[in-house]
Amino acid sequence: MTLPEIAPPTCGPPESVLVVGASAGGLTTAEALRRKGFEGRITLLGDEPHLPYDRPPLSKQVLSGAWEPARARLRPEPALRALDADLVLGDPAVALDAANRTVWTESGRVLGADEIVIATGVQARVFPGQPDLSGVHVIRTLDDAVALRTELATARRLVVVGDGVLGAEVAATGRGLGLDVTLAGPQSVPMESQFGAWAGARLGELHTEQGVTLRLGTGVRELAAEAGRVVGVLLESGEQLPADVVVVAIGGVPATGWLVGSGLTCENGVVCDAMCRAADGIYAVGDVARWRHQGLGALLRLENRTNATEQAVAVAANILGADQPYVPVPYFWTDQYDVKVMVHGLVPAGAEIEVVEGDPAARRFVALCRTDGVARGVLGWNMPKQTRLHRQRVADALALAPAG
Ligand SMILES: Cc1cc2nc3c(=O)[nH]c(=O)nc-3n(C[C@H](O)[C@H](O)[C@H](O)COP(=O)(O)OP(=O)(O)OC[C@H]3O[C@@H](n4cnc5c(N)ncnc54)[C@H](O)[C@@H]3O)c2cc1C
Repeated sequence: MTLPEIAPPTCGPPESVLVVGASAGGLTTAEALRRKGFEGRITLLGDEPHLPYDRPPLSKQVLSGAWEPARARLRPEPALRALDADLVLGDPAVALDAANRTVWTESGRVLGADEIVIATGVQARVFPGQPDLSGVHVIRTLDDAVALRTELATARRLVVVGDGVLGAEVAATGRGLGLDVTLAGPQSVPMESQFGAWAGARLGELHTEQGVTLRLGTGVRELAAEAGRVVGVLLESGEQLPADVVVVAIGGVPATGWLVGSGLTCENGVVCDAMCRAADGIYAVGDVARWRHQGLGALLRLENRTNATEQAVAVAANILGADQPYVPVPYFWTDQYDVKVMVHGLVPAGAEIEVVEGDPAARRFVALCRTDGVARGVLGWNMPKQTRLHRQRVADALALAPAG
């Protein structure tokens, strides 16, 4: 694929910035611009009706009922007012003219700016050919979490389709609510693609001990329904899992539909150069951005909370003339039961695992993940401080990688 050829900005600082997507990445971009002294006009455009909120609590505290939905808000209202930005909510962007830096919205607004930041995240992938059945949920938005929570209050059997991070978190929360939970998916262990086979197996043991039934290594054929309501999940193996509620957690699709015809390259995200520029005066941040990571020498798109913040800060700096590549050490965490797992870097399939701190049997450890003798990732299990201490090894390896 040819990367966009974009000249660095030559004129002075912009007078106006439009950020499309008013969540973690979008809000942080606006805040970072102000912190760096930008005094021009900022417009933050979002399609959801809610004030900006955070997603990680949705599958944990909000779904369990430990938090009221409002507690997931990213900032209190006075802090949003102090930002001195035009906050336009509940009005999706429907088109972009990249050359003229103009965005059209569903309600008919036409918004122009010197610089545009795309922060539209991902949308939940639905089950292929999924009919519109009651009792079937995804969990991406606050409204999704509240709707699911309401249904779980009267349910007994929950089947989670999808063995990635979100599926595993929903299964853990469902058990915490006392539900009879089955987790189904094609991988041999939960979160294998994020954790690798070794740590994924530890996670599988944890779920089993907590009472989750695992149905892994087999795909899902279809959702079974009666009178418009889901009643079960039929596996490729032929087994049918009875269900009162089904959560489909099979990943996300970059929210780039509104960019068709914009002139930008969208392939599994908005394709950007190393500075996160998609075109002259257009940047992308967060889950939707697929940029050239110079340390890895490859295009990368990350779906995690820390990246949304760090990339937004880098993009704000570049808008104001820094012209620096964004070269983070990828990082994510997950909370399931009383376990916090953190991963700095990546855990490639087949990586050699060395436990460098703690003891897996004691459920507290740090493991280094290497390929060809090079540290690619560090995975920590209930040892946050010690995990962070080993992050530098991954950072050093990334810095040694050839610049792309
Ligand atoms: C349930 C859940 C739990 C998670 N837990 C963790 C965790 O434990 N650890 C972790 O590291 N990460 C976690 N994540 C991932 C993390 O929340 C995301 O990486 C982060 O929210 C990305 O921020 P973003 O701003 O790029 O995208 P988003 O948060 O998706 O925000 C994009 C915003 O843009 C809006 N938008 C989309 N299209 C348009 C349009 N056309 N016009 C206007 N607005 C639009 C969307 O509605 C949304 O409000 C979790 C995600 C979910 C869904």
